[in-house]
Amino acid sequence: MIAAHMVHFEVLIVGAGPAGSFAAEQLARAGVSVGLFDGRPPGEPKACGGGVTSKALKAWPHLLEAVGRTIDELDMYSPSGKHLHLQLDEPFAVYSRIAFDTFLRERAQKVGAKVLAEKVSARGFKRTDDGWIVRTQSDAEFSCKYLVGADGANSAIAKKLAGPLPPAEMEVAFGYRAPLPEAGDAATVVAFLPKWVGYAWAFPRVDHVSFGIATTQDAFEHDALDKLLWDFMVSYYEVAQVGNLRKMKLWNRADETQINNLRYQAERYAARIPGLSPRTWDTRKACGEGWALLGDAAGFADPVTGEGIYYALRSAELFAQAYLAGEPLTYEQSWRKDFGAELKRASQMRRRFYGNFWGAPFTDRMIDFARGHRGIRKVLGQLVAGDQGYTNLKRKLARSALKPL
Ligand SMILES: Cc1cc2nc3c(=O)[nH]c(=O)nc-3n(C[C@H](O)[C@H](O)[C@H](O)COP(=O)(O)OP(=O)(O)OC[C@H]3O[C@@H](n4cnc5c(N)ncnc54)[C@H](O)[C@@H]3O)c2cc1C
Repeated sequence: MIAAHMVHFEVLIVGAGPAGSFAAEQLARAGVSVGLFDGRPPGEPKACGGGVTSKALKAWPHLLEAVGRTIDELDMYSPSGKHLHLQLDEPFAVYSRIAFDTFLRERAQKVGAKVLAEKVSARGFKRTDDGWIVRTQSDAEFSCKYLVGADGANSAIAKKLAGPLPPAEMEVAFGYRAPLPEAGDAATVVAFLPKWVGYAWAFPRVDHVSFGIATTQDAFEHDALDKLLWDFMVSYYEVAQVGNLRKMKLWNRADETQINNLRYQAERYAARIPGLSPRTWDTRKACGEGWALLGDAAGFADPVTGEGIYYALRSAELFAQAYLAGEPLTYEQSWRKDFGAELKRASQMRRRFYGNFWGAPFTDRMIDFARGHRGIRKVLGQLVAGDQGYTNLKRKLARSALKPL
């Protein structure tokens, strides 16, 4: 029985990250009454590199209206420090997550979604005969017909409705927001880690640089990885200062004074990213009677790169289409068909991508080959752009390698 004073929404979305806001916008635009809840304190950004692939920018060109920085050159480094400069045919964008999330949330609000700055209690949702009652941490209660969990990698809704994920199926990413270099260009850098799975990045934004490392949670060694990241950051600023951005000397132990000078200007962040195993891709459910999960809450991130913004937006779009067609349960087939196979393939490839190939790390070989081969450079550029999937990556690399230089 629903109390008469309780506010009712047809769809109640928990989480106003990219997935929740984008779903709210599309549903509200079609006339659905939507409540969009988010408990993040104002001004606190979601921990994220903020990189949005060109595939996403092509699919939703309005994203370019958000304040960000467009990137058309990328410096990549192999675990042994080999360098590759990529001129990207298709630029990607880097956003501050405050700017990006606010932009998407305001679009949802403009078309009628009711945005509530409320945190839903971890166990604050229960089924009724015809929907759900959701309780927030301020003890307010709301009712809805349909519940959408877009509450990120630690989703309480996913834990309850789809089951918890084991720690091995989580990746961890941490980093620092630090000032732009005082002189010279701020390069965009991706450097594959020596010894660990994953990579370090430097993504310059409009008013700062986002540095970080993404790696697996089960092999996470905080002190060693943190040191590696400080070394990376010191080298980044050193190179920017001498105006030669293209040659970072990676993984040298940086001097403590240099690190300390930087430390007081940097702001740390850390969070988890789902990295589902191949088997889980087959068994995991993203919807059921009266509920659906979107984005990170559903586990939709690339297990090789940790990229999740595209999948957050695409899952929101696919869910909204299924819901508006009156067949919300078809969302399960549509996400599988659209990107599920691709992400499962990425998960199968992860070990090989970060493993050895002909006696050296695969990423070392890949960068080595790309340095001498335009075709491979192009495929790598497409991978960064999000236009090259994993299902045919090996075939495409091999075919490019066989083409004349
Ligand atoms: C350090 C790091 C770097 C990354 N870099 C990139 C990158 O460069 N490019 C990329 O594509 N992906 C990146 N990712 C992944 C990307 O951040 C996520 O895949 C993406 O944010 C998922 O969007 P989402 O809307 O599903 O969830 P989120 O963006 O996590 O949004 C979930 C929202 O739900 C809210 N919420 C949670 N619980 C509750 C609750 N109980 N009540 C109310 N609100 C709640 C949160 O406040 C949050 O705003 C990175 C991740 C990390 C951790």
